[in-house]
Amino acid sequence: MDPSSQKIKELEVMVAEVIEETPETTTLVLFTGNDTLNYKPGHFLTISPHQFPGLQRWVSYLEDIKGKKEPGRAYSLASSPDEKYLAITVKEERYISNNTPYPPLLSPILAKRTRAGSRMVITGFTGPYTMPDEWQTKFEEIVHVCAGSGIVPSFSIIKHDLRMNESLKHTLVYSSKVAEDVIFFNQLAELERIFPDRFRVINTLTRESGADKRFRSGRITRELLSEVITNPENTAVFACGPDHNIWQKRAAKESGATLPPSFLGSVLTGLDEIGVDKKRIKKESYG
Ligand SMILES: Cc1cc2nc3c(=O)[nH]c(=O)nc-3n(C[C@H](O)[C@H](O)[C@H](O)COP(=O)(O)OP(=O)(O)OC[C@H]3O[C@@H](n4cnc5c(N)ncnc54)[C@H](O)[C@@H]3O)c2cc1C
Repeated sequence: MDPSSQKIKELEVMVAEVIEETPETTTLVLFTGNDTLNYKPGHFLTISPHQFPGLQRWVSYLEDIKGKKEPGRAYSLASSPDEKYLAITVKEERYISNNTPYPPLLSPILAKRTRAGSRMVITGFTGPYTMPDEWQTKFEEIVHVCAGSGIVPSFSIIKHDLRMNESLKHTLVYSSKVAEDVIFFNQLAELERIFPDRFRVINTLTRESGADKRFRSGRITRELLSEVITNPENTAVFACGPDHNIWQKRAAKESGATLPPSFLGSVLTGLDEIGVDKKRIKKESYG
């Protein structure tokens, strides 16, 4: 079946494996029984916080003070459709005093308190961050510009395309705070080793600079984008990472404050300046 024609459905899954990727990030490998899994690389699933008995008091309290029902949280698939199991990779969000509006609800449970054998209900699969079929023939190269857990959908897209198709090249420009935060470091290095002519990774660290030649230091700048995208006419881009959310924009508008540029905002400005047409950019914001 064409995955885009598939109806969204609920599935009960069992956590088959819990993999600590970085100190803040955990992959949950999900066993779905005999259900057919029709999804595209780049799709996400959602998980409702209402189903976890340990969260019930928190959910009720947050719904009271926010004045609305807590929605399901979206998680991109870290697995790809050619793999046997589903997987998601969750970063534990933190509560920062005087900064975070409410304590994060679901990610701490998924990233730090979920054990193999636990069960949960997921809803999937959907999302616009997928590769259009025509990109296979229209472009020579796909550049992925990601930050933090924004790597997850691109990881699925990259490994699936490298394994299942033969032509496209992929370059990943990946921003993390420090080296130990780099998600999928070994898996990405292994893909580079297996597909040396089709895949390369440029890791950048915003809060660490040192002698380690595997990493560049600093943010992803316009200069770095133009170094990587030498032929904007022949390149399509996936960009995924933090952006200002609707509440931050609303609060800034009300107080008259100017928000500092977000990761996604800066990347899109940089891509525009070096001549990458908006129609050739797929973007996803986790803010
Ligand atoms: C398409 C998509 C894919 C994603 N994929 C991943 C992934 O692969 N890995 C990952 O770690 N994360 C991913 N996320 C982020 C994830 O959905 C959660 O937002 C994150 O895990 C934090 O959830 P939480 O319940 O811990 O935090 P919470 O802060 O409790 O929940 C975050 C939710 O609160 C909402 N919110 C924020 N501020 C306010 C406010 N002031 N008032 C009311 N509501 C507010 C946000 O819109 C968001 O829906 C993705 C997000 C999207 C949209």
